[in-house]
Amino acid sequence: MLGKMMDQPLLISNLISHAARYHGATEVVSVETTGGTERSNWATLDQNARQLASALLALGLAPEDRCATIAWNNRRHMEIYFGVAGAGLVCHTVNPRLHPEQLIYIANHAEDKVLFFDSTFLPAVAKLKEHFKTIEHYVLMGPRDDAAAEMLDGLVFYDELLETGDAGFDWPQFEESRASSLCYTSGTTGNPKGVLYTHRSTMLHTLAGNQPDGLAISAKDTVLPVVPMFHVNAWGVPYIAAGNGAKLILPGPGLDGESLVKLIDGEGVTLALGVPTIWMGLLAALKKTGSKAEKLTRTVVGGSALPPSMIPAFRDDYGVELIHAWGMTETSPLGTLNQLLQKHETLPEEDQAAIRLGQGRPPYGVELRIMGEDGTVLPNDGKAQGELQVRGHWIVDTYFKADQSALNADGWFDTGDVATIDADGYMIIRDRAKDIIKSGGEWISTVELENIAIGHPGVANAAAIAARHPKWDERPVLVALKAEGQDVSEQDIIAFYDGKVASWQVPDKVIFVDALPLGGTGKVVKAKLREEYEDILMQQEDA
Ligand code: AMP
Repeated sequence: MLGKMMDQPLLISNLISHAARYHGATEVVSVETTGGTERSNWATLDQNARQLASALLALGLAPEDRCATIAWNNRRHMEIYFGVAGAGLVCHTVNPRLHPEQLIYIANHAEDKVLFFDSTFLPAVAKLKEHFKTIEHYVLMGPRDDAAAEMLDGLVFYDELLETGDAGFDWPQFEESRASSLCYTSGTTGNPKGVLYTHRSTMLHTLAGNQPDGLAISAKDTVLPVVPMFHVNAWGVPYIAAGNGAKLILPGPGLDGESLVKLIDGEGVTLALGVPTIWMGLLAALKKTGSKAEKLTRTVVGGSALPPSMIPAFRDDYGVELIHAWGMTETSPLGTLNQLLQKHETLPEEDQAAIRLGQGRPPYGVELRIMGEDGTVLPNDGKAQGELQVRGHWIVDTYFKADQSALNADGWFDTGDVATIDADGYMIIRDRAKDIIKSGGEWISTVELENIAIGHPGVANAAAIAARHPKWDERPVLVALKAEGQDVSEQDIIAFYDGKVASWQVPDKVIFVDALPLGGTGKVVKAKLREEYEDILMQQEDA
């Protein structure tokens, strides 16, 4: 033998052990579902997670058995993340905003054995219980509650379950290829598909996704993941925060702007992460309360396209840098992050902001390419637009219980996004393949039309969709939500596009609605809008 290095498996339990050993007293602050704020720390979280792991194994669960959660971002949810995965079981986070039929489908498809849930969801769980075919243990995430016990036969209480566990339990060692967590995609058509992450993929995502040009979370940070723990593992923040001993603020069920301002100011949050809709709410609340979000320096925005007006709104009034990121359930999710290069530092602020609007470049561990309609790989010239494909250490290969790999013949995953990539690797999402508008054979980006509309002060939010058209096949229609107290007209919005896009790209029609349909992860469900309005231009032609 020439020599040998230690060969330790990359296990999620290592992260929480590290947090307990070197950052034990660093706080984890949690807004409770039942109200009030609870202060804990990494040492306690590790202790509780060990006890939970031992209690779950004592129930007779087998390796890789699924334990589901329907819960907000809170301390017990963190313990379940680490306790379940650390025990060699699979933590299956379920999105509570899904339609009940999808919840039933997902729980049965995953063959969940345990269901942990917050009290918010007790009535829904009690109602759906008869449809859940495999769940053997229902665990309410809290102390004993006699009224709750009446509502669900055999209900177990988290705090009591924890007490049955062994406080001296040692984290078991096993192979790093073992499954650790499961997330279903929030698809708008067909059945949801499960992505089964492993300890190895999660650990590599934790290490590489947090480099200086990535999330860059350090022990000096106070981190607020507004992105839910049921949305692709809260973008990996629970693992990264533990691995780096950051102070963690868990916002519980209150995700409105004013609740967030209170947490940001009260706890001195330095970094917050969430989807654009959340930040629109936060900006409005900052204005209303007069808060300056003193300590906040960075927010990470992803999940859907970043409206351009948001960058100066955060930068100029609050000195907060917006970091745009792209990813999906199938990519764990960090695929790209937008951090500038050395050569960009001397550019004027406006030029830097223009670069920052894109989705950014991949960290080590992810590769991107774009594919033309004819199946050839397109150049990275910032102009050629094609289907975005990805491969790397934390990208799906085969969906949960699927017969076949989801990859192309040459091992890449088709994201379903349409993008450009420039010579430095900066990627810009132009559209979802299924959303893009094809008018008279020319593509129109719905993202671009929406960004312009949202830049109009009279518009709070907007979605552009393809409506069927007798001559052009499809034409853009804009569905818009007016900003509070604003009375903007269809003509105003149409005129606003003047000079910003080619005249044939301007929407044919603007429809004002009282609310846009939002999906489980806060994104506009365009499929619903299309269902409702796709024939609106055909009707006009008939009339
Ligand atoms: P999900 O699996 O629910 O996280 O959805 C993933 C999809 O969300 C991606 O394929 C994109 O279409 C979209 N998405 C995520 N992040 C962004 C972003 N920063 N800009 C535009 N679209 C995004």
